[in-house]
Amino acid sequence: MGKRGLKWIGALLCVAVVAGVGWMLLREQIMERLLPYGIKKAVRRIDAAETLLDPVTYPGIRVILAGTGTPLADADRSHPCTAVIANGEFLVFDDGGGGLRQLQIHGYPTHRITRVFLTHMHSDHMGGMGALCDYSWIYGRKKQIHIYGPNASNLLTHSLYPPTSDEYVHGTKTTGGVPDTRRINELTEDDLVPGAGYIPGVKYMVDGLAKAFRPDIIIRSSNKQMPAGFYEPTHAFFVAHPIPDMDTAGKAPDFGWGELKTVYTSDDGRLVVKAFLVDHYPCFPSYGYRVECAGRAVVISGDTERLTYMATCAANADILVHEAMNMELVNQITRVLDEDLGRHVWAAHARGAASHHTNTLDVARAAEAAGARMLVLTHVGPPTRNDTMRKIFVKGMDAIYHGRIVLGEDGMEFYLRPNQKQG
Ligand SMILES: [Zn+2]
Ligand SMILES: [Zn+2]
Repeated sequence: MGKRGLKWIGALLCVAVVAGVGWMLLREQIMERLLPYGIKKAVRRIDAAETLLDPVTYPGIRVILAGTGTPLADADRSHPCTAVIANGEFLVFDDGGGGLRQLQIHGYPTHRITRVFLTHMHSDHMGGMGALCDYSWIYGRKKQIHIYGPNASNLLTHSLYPPTSDEYVHGTKTTGGVPDTRRINELTEDDLVPGAGYIPGVKYMVDGLAKAFRPDIIIRSSNKQMPAGFYEPTHAFFVAHPIPDMDTAGKAPDFGWGELKTVYTSDDGRLVVKAFLVDHYPCFPSYGYRVECAGRAVVISGDTERLTYMATCAANADILVHEAMNMELVNQITRVLDEDLGRHVWAAHARGAASHHTNTLDVARAAEAAGARMLVLTHVGPPTRNDTMRKIFVKGMDAIYHGRIVLGEDGMEFYLRPNQKQG
């Protein structure tokens, strides 16, 4: 290298050192100067997000994955939460914790959430309800959220299993060949929650949240620094809409396996949400949901074992958001826990939990049978920390299902334009 080259390197080093020292000394002043630009950008982003709720600009269905994990604490995935924006409404399906946070981090207008639909009463699906209700109110929500979910089980005479239930192969049949419902039927009067039944439903949870969050609501709504009426306490809470299950109070079933029951229709009739029973025993009742708008259909499976009725309930869905568990990986994990580490209780726990979910290959079969156009995997377990694990997770699925398979990640968004053929 010549003298000229060395001079250049020296000059560059000097510039770098001067810039570095300058940055060290002035960075606070520089950041303070830049702050207004950052704030303006953030506010513009929030304003722009409001337009997502304009049905003229966006007449189709938007699906947002706000939580794609399981009950496990996963650095990459929040507990299950899927949001749908359609016909000017902001709907949320489950939030086990972290879902609302994801929606807010990604700039969605959570103060416009109108309805929440709970698939079932497992904590990884409803554990975030307090935060969802409270923080969307703090962000300026002006209306109560309507929350739909399982009714209390007052009678334990349900036909608990669909005929295809994997419970049959779990070895829990009685000698008479019928499914063994012992554990649930062993509940006694002592287990009854007064006024709520054996397994309390969504109303019980809403009443409890109203009590738990009352101090916060009182404190915030009495803040004199905010305009009067900004924090209206009555807006902070949910209105519960229990979905009757198959057989309440000895009456004929409201709806049975494989049937769709409309649980919400918008005033203009353009947006319809239907519920269907899924097999997630012993968490009964458990539901999946089908959202229909603009000639499109999005189906959310909830937690379920392999369910043949998915073919009917998710028939021709544009997007099927289905829970997925890779049993090959679960088996490997339980083998190590059992044989190498002697952690038998952990292994039993993993096996037991996995048996109430759907193996990835069965998810592919369900999507293929339903004729779904796109399959989005959520409730992803075990965790998929890197690309290799993600590839292993979906291995073999594309040989069964011929549509597009997406391994869901928190923050993913899909937009379905209206189906021109069907209006
Ligand atoms: Zn569950
Ligand atoms: Zn779950």
